Amino acid sequence: MSITNRVLLIILMVAIGSSQPSYASSVNLGTLSSWYSNTSEINRWKYSSVLCEENVYSGFTMSDFRSHVTFATSTWSSIMYFNYTSGSSSTCIYFLGGNLVDLNNMNIGFDSSMEGLTNIIRSSEGYWVAGSGVSLPNGASYAGGGALQKASIYIRYNQPSGAPYTTNRFNRNTTHELGHALGYHGHPNASGLIMSLTANDKQTITASEKNHLQQVKY
Ligand SMILES: [Zn+2]
Repeated sequence: MSITNRVLLIILMVAIGSSQPSYASSVNLGTLSSWYSNTSEINRWKYSSVLCEENVYSGFTMSDFRSHVTFATSTWSSIMYFNYTSGSSSTCIYFLGGNLVDLNNMNIGFDSSMEGLTNIIRSSEGYWVAGSGVSLPNGASYAGGGALQKASIYIRYNQPSGAPYTTNRFNRNTTHELGHALGYHGHPNASGLIMSLTANDKQTITASEKNHLQQVKY
């Protein structure tokens, strides 16, 4: 049980045209005034608004699942304007909910230690420069940038016991994964935050998490 009790929320990178984006570009995207991630990379959603779609498999009802999606988009609404649409779009964030078996069967890398997963498509965009007083992890002097145009967010319904997670946990996990879809790469070093690696029931983002994305938004 130690494995299944360890909750990991990870981000699976899928780059256009190559396995990883290259940051050889000399394009300077600007100066960073803060940094709240354990990696020196950051992405950002490529457009000033986001189209969203939702679908559910086992467990969630659509109305319940939508309430968690609405919670997440409301939480990040100061960063981005969200539109809901139907039908496929090449510039969309998909929210998908289901039980562990559903998510395992989708071959997206979702395993029993996870409560949520975000799969993104991005392209290399240049780099940001660390401003005065801003230190990036691993001594990096700049942060590479990726432009995101599509993401799929997967939210797990059932705990290892089989019971559903709580409403607060669904809200937090959906908000966490949406943060990744909007460009939050890696996790804060602090625990107990919505964007922290280890799952929790936090319901509000901190100013630091908000500023991390705000400073690089389109
Ligand atoms: Zn995460």
